[in-house]
Amino acid sequence: MNRAEPISRNLTDANSRGITNCPCCVFPFARQQGAFTLIELLVVISIIAILMGILLPFLNKAKQLANKLTCSSNMRQTGIALNSYLIDHDDRLPDSSCHISDPNEFWISILSAYVREQLLFRCPSDKAKNFVDWNKPFSEQPKDSRWSSFALNALLDSGCPRYYGRYNTVTAIRKPQHCIYVAESPSSWTSADHVHPENWFYNINLAKGQIAWDRHLKKSNYLFADGHTETLKIEQTYTWPGDCFWFPESAPKWPNDD
Ligand SMILES: [Zn+2]
Ligand SMILES: [Zn+2]
Repeated sequence: MNRAEPISRNLTDANSRGITNCPCCVFPFARQQGAFTLIELLVVISIIAILMGILLPFLNKAKQLANKLTCSSNMRQTGIALNSYLIDHDDRLPDSSCHISDPNEFWISILSAYVREQLLFRCPSDKAKNFVDWNKPFSEQPKDSRWSSFALNALLDSGCPRYYGRYNTVTAIRKPQHCIYVAESPSSWTSADHVHPENWFYNINLAKGQIAWDRHLKKSNYLFADGHTETLKIEQTYTWPGDCFWFPESAPKWPNDD
């Protein structure tokens, strides 16, 4: 710097190069044009935090709604496969693992092999990480894999001890549109593909132990024996006396039990 040049001239040159004066002294310090001060940055962060607080519940709810629809769609695809299977098998329903030891004979295996599309027997809200891929041989699956998010109503099995297979054909069910065929099972279940409503003894808490009843905003998806799906509170499916969608001889109203 030329000693003869006045300070004011140097400051003018500095301003023209994007350098500003320190507010408490005459010496300039560098500040890039367009940069935030600390206070400005804190204000911006606070606004973002407030917006996130407002938006997150909506985003969560939107995600849960999307999961519910995906789950329902996966169940619906299962219902379509079931209807095709019934046409070719004199309305006989495929069985659960309750009285069968060969995994190739489980309802999931049978329906997987029956349609060309890949069926997904799982719910995106299911907390389990590893699932069996039913398009591959069962013997190749890791032992701790969860069979499915879904479970079959074992009252419709050919080996059902309550009805002795009387309701193993969909035409024998009094009202298929009011009789649940598949429901959502708890995420902690691994080697399981069916539930036993005859063991709930009209106790809603016992039913809740076998059904993922609150998986979708306190509701759950159900596939009925006619192939349609519904999202319901478990109380809407299992009450006594009143509507009960689990028993094939009495749905939807429970008559005298014999
Ligand atoms: Zn069983
Ligand atoms: Zn689900």
